[in-house]
Amino acid sequence: MTVAIYAGTFDPITNGHIDIATRAARLFDRITIAIAENPYKEPFFALEERLELARKALDGLPNVEVEAYDGLTVDFARKVGAKVMVRGLRMSADFEREFEMAMMNRKLDPDLELICFMASQEYQFLSSSLLKEVASLKGDISCLVPEHVAEAIKRKVVVKE
Ligand code: ADP
Repeated sequence: MTVAIYAGTFDPITNGHIDIATRAARLFDRITIAIAENPYKEPFFALEERLELARKALDGLPNVEVEAYDGLTVDFARKVGAKVMVRGLRMSADFEREFEMAMMNRKLDPDLELICFMASQEYQFLSSSLLKEVASLKGDISCLVPEHVAEAIKRKVVVKE
């Protein structure tokens, strides 16, 4: 059985993340979506909210589970029995950072293999941060996230105003 981990901040989950998770779920027996607490950047959504939004978004994928973690991703990967780390790559923007992280992770755990999925064309320019910026300026984000995520962003934007 091949278990994979797809880790990130998911603040919040977008159609780009869902696309990667759906494609990875076809290749691996089980995928753990690992949501980082991320103490280094102030998140828009609290950890519990990010978990709930992701769980609802991925509800239809029976071999995908969503968990929170803190500390090193390689340690959490080992804990869930993952042999593969999944990442998504958008155009040129992600490559250098992902490469750097992959080299560090390989040093930390040489047994964990990285598999990168090329982002689908329609989500190449979609990031959680751009999404929040557009939403806070009252732009339409409905084609970029599931409906429940769009609603949660709208509610949060109103509260933060
Ligand atoms: P991080 O804080 O690690 O960047 P993110 O939640 O932003 O976490 O992203 C998690 C992973 O999903 C990363 O590998 C990122 O490159 C990938 N990703 C983010 N947005 C997209 C997208 N639109 N299409 C494909 N992959 C994406």
